[in-house]
Amino acid sequence: GVVGEGKIEVRRTVCSHCSVGCAIDAVVENGVWVRQEPVFDSPINLGAHCAKGAAIREHGHGEYRLRYPMKLVDGKYQRISWDQALNEISAKILELRKASGPEAMYWIGSSKHSNEQSYLMRKFVSLWGSNNCDHQARICHSTTVSGVANTWGYGAMTNSYNDMQNSKCALYIGSNAAEAHPVSMLHMLHAKENGTKMIVADPRFTRTAAKADEYVRIRSGSDIPFLFGVLYHVFKNGWEDKKYINDRVYGMEDVRKDVMAKWTPDKVEEACGVPEATVYKVAEMMAKNRPSTIVWCMGQTQHSIGNAMVRASCILQLALGNIGVSGGGANIFRGHDNVQGATDVGPNPDSLPGYYGIVEGSWRHYAKVWGVDYDWIKGRFANVGMMSKPGITVSRWIDGVLEKNELIDQDPNLRGVVYWGHAPNSQTRGVEMKRAMDKLDLLVVIDPYPSATAAMAAMPGKPEDLNPNRAVYLLPAATQFETSGSVTASNRSLQWREKVIEPLWESRSDHMIMYQLAEKLGFGKELVKNYKMQKVKGMDEPLPDDILREINKSNWTIGYTGQSPERLQAHMRNMSAFDVKTLRAKGNVKDKVNGYDLTGDYFGLPWPCFGTPELKHPGTHVLYNPSLHVMDGGGNFRANFGVERNGVNLLAEDGSASLGADIQTGYPEFDHVLLKKLGWWSELTDAEKAAAEGKNWKTDLSGGIIRVVMKNHGCHPFGNAKARAVVWNFPDA
Ligand code: SF4
Repeated sequence: GVVGEGKIEVRRTVCSHCSVGCAIDAVVENGVWVRQEPVFDSPINLGAHCAKGAAIREHGHGEYRLRYPMKLVDGKYQRISWDQALNEISAKILELRKASGPEAMYWIGSSKHSNEQSYLMRKFVSLWGSNNCDHQARICHSTTVSGVANTWGYGAMTNSYNDMQNSKCALYIGSNAAEAHPVSMLHMLHAKENGTKMIVADPRFTRTAAKADEYVRIRSGSDIPFLFGVLYHVFKNGWEDKKYINDRVYGMEDVRKDVMAKWTPDKVEEACGVPEATVYKVAEMMAKNRPSTIVWCMGQTQHSIGNAMVRASCILQLALGNIGVSGGGANIFRGHDNVQGATDVGPNPDSLPGYYGIVEGSWRHYAKVWGVDYDWIKGRFANVGMMSKPGITVSRWIDGVLEKNELIDQDPNLRGVVYWGHAPNSQTRGVEMKRAMDKLDLLVVIDPYPSATAAMAAMPGKPEDLNPNRAVYLLPAATQFETSGSVTASNRSLQWREKVIEPLWESRSDHMIMYQLAEKLGFGKELVKNYKMQKVKGMDEPLPDDILREINKSNWTIGYTGQSPERLQAHMRNMSAFDVKTLRAKGNVKDKVNGYDLTGDYFGLPWPCFGTPELKHPGTHVLYNPSLHVMDGGGNFRANFGVERNGVNLLAEDGSASLGADIQTGYPEFDHVLLKKLGWWSELTDAEKAAAEGKNWKTDLSGGIIRVVMKNHGCHPFGNAKARAVVWNFPDA
């Protein structure tokens, strides 16, 4: 339309306020973002936005945007130039490195960075010579990742927001989706119109609870007794899926015995305050309306026993045979828009992009991908010995400064921290964090807004804590609407954001700042070796498309190989080619648009999306579908819930439940073929070889063996996908 009769363009982007991934058409007039609309034919939005998403333009144009670099002088932030900021910051960082080694610096990334920025940041920290980095996902869903990855393989949501329309029953526990993920509720409300039952278990009567057919007020933190209470009735009434359990789960008999003995209705009522009749009703609703799904969010994960809660949810879904089917699954709603992607390819302290362990094989793999010599990278770590030692987690960096080193398993002597799009108000221990911030030599905050980190650093603290040499800087980052790149929604689906406007004020994109800082620190050339540079406001910026191509080339573990920038861009632009209703009626079908195979029933290209872009893999909308090829994210798994395993009680309520699970490829005959093909067979003992060839998954340990051997070679410790890629002769594996 005609806004002010200037030159009108429409740029397609993705909302950055939550992990649902609603697409937005941003209307730009003469380079100014003037209006926005939901993308009406996006299969995820269905023509809607929530109140948060409807105000996304304000995120770019907010009046409190950080406009230029600043430095804290006598308790007040003062404007400085970019040149001064970068020169002083890099000089200080190099000084700290000289005095205390590279691990004196700590780098906190962001779950609001694009995939390309997250990946580049892990590469940046690696080339700097450290594993001292982390990001927001540690605080929100790390309990989910370890809980589900140790149960069935991949650390992610198994199905999709819009797949919930295929559910016959949904149990929300620890999620207030109506407020936190509003557009996801749209799918649930559509489902309800078709008769889907909805159960909400929550200590608070929330807006989500207001829509429930059955609201269960459980005592806070009593999720495990409640879930096992539900399981009690499932087992008692013989509602479990016996064939499914026999085919796909190991140890359910142990679970059954444990639940029937420990979680009798009286004990469950005592723990959760929920009467037997209600728990029975929930069990009956879940069992008699299959496929049923379970939804959880931070209400489950942010407990000290979050792992165990996640595992209890997984056990319930496995008992009901709900994993690997459309309408079932574990729909785990992430928080920030790119928590999933930043975890998959970003700055984790214990893994390289794609969950490659920090072992020699992975470092060699990435040295090859990055086009640098392995010995050069190794040399960066030489004096600190951290190459195979995990860095500190974001919840623990303050212990490195306050010298509570017993809590972090190393003696890091942290002296400088870069908060790159992260704020401490999502963390606990605020008083100690303020003390740690004051003791630092260097604190750099990079953000589109002067965040709580910046405010906290400037607040007066205890005089005895303040380091007289401390330097604090604020650098203005561009928003995600002032650059382009991909983002991974909670359902593992990648979408592409087109650049809406040029970076406002003096802000620069995060990947431009990474490059400029790396230049000053002496490894700029290595960082951007594989990328074309584009000019933004007259300065060099690595091209996000090329960074994604590097991810495509290297990430064989969880399947980011098929989502090329061209394919994602075509996908975003051709949403309008879908008749969503027709496609939904047909099921998960492939549609041809502009020569690309697209799956129209859902949205985006969720990983695993294996193979080259030319293979046109449609992505995997439902994980673990036994009728799909393993390379299509399908295939079998064997969840292991043996109650006692190596002395660990897997069902303990103290969080140890996630310690002992064992994942196998589900193809015992595949394991030894794989090891032979990879040339690693000789590394097994005779007993292990016999076990791997025994093809009896119930008694052998071939899954465990393959995991250990592969980990030694830098492969994904649980997914085995890289090795699958080798076996199926995919390129660049
Ligand atoms: Fe944005 Fe989430 Fe709202 Fe969608 S549901 S518009 S992604 S905040």
